[in-house]
Amino acid sequence: MKISFHGAARTVTGSKHLVTLNNGKKLLLDCGMFQGMGKETPELNQHFGFNPSEITHVFLSHAHVDHCGLLPKLVKEGYNGKIYATPATIDVAKILLLDSAYIQEQDVAFLNKKRKEEGRTLLKPLYTQEDAEKTFDHFVPVHYRQALQVDKDIRLELFDCGHIIGSATVYLTITEDGKTSTLAFSGDVGRYGDPILHSPQTFPQVDYLIIESTYGDRLHPPLESYAGDLEKNIHETCIEKKGKLIIPAFSV
Ligand SMILES: [Zn+2]
Repeated sequence: MKISFHGAARTVTGSKHLVTLNNGKKLLLDCGMFQGMGKETPELNQHFGFNPSEITHVFLSHAHVDHCGLLPKLVKEGYNGKIYATPATIDVAKILLLDSAYIQEQDVAFLNKKRKEEGRTLLKPLYTQEDAEKTFDHFVPVHYRQALQVDKDIRLELFDCGHIIGSATVYLTITEDGKTSTLAFSGDVGRYGDPILHSPQTFPQVDYLIIESTYGDRLHPPLESYAGDLEKNIHETCIEKKGKLIIPAFSV
């Protein structure tokens, strides 16, 4: 097999990893959108670096847009196969993809108003809400720890990765040229002991491991210390300085 990286390598968004088997099958791990890369962002999302119609299988780790956000574009440009993910990932991805399409349609409409006045060529969204809906037919739900023989060469098992609801490590057992090998793709990895999410499940040893490493070079303070910090900040802000408490929520 050959593995190539088309995003989330040397950067943290645009997760897309292509596994090409010796028999020609092409497995795509995630199909994420690049986000927050400044002026380069639209251009980065324009080209996959591979032909969508040649992809044979898609496996999705979780529903964050930087992991699933280009699925409608993939389908629009010729992907005709299935997209395997946990039921919760599928539920959340449907909401986020429709929302992402809506935002793009609004952004383009706003920009085109001015471009039209200036006689410039009009922009098109990466995909529309209609394109997003067409993607939904390709989803296949797979529960955690319920192995699925995807085809004669590929067996899939998903392990809870504790990052957001439905997030999974994609564990593949692949047979090529009569030899079996294993590959795991973590997507984003959650923390142990989170109050509302399960801790990441361990999975069997693999021959190839593709793993998130965003915080690989630092230690997080222990979870228990956050409650104390929060209390201290609230006390300082609201009691001592008589200020207001605003808690931003990092949504999906
Ligand atoms: Zn994520």
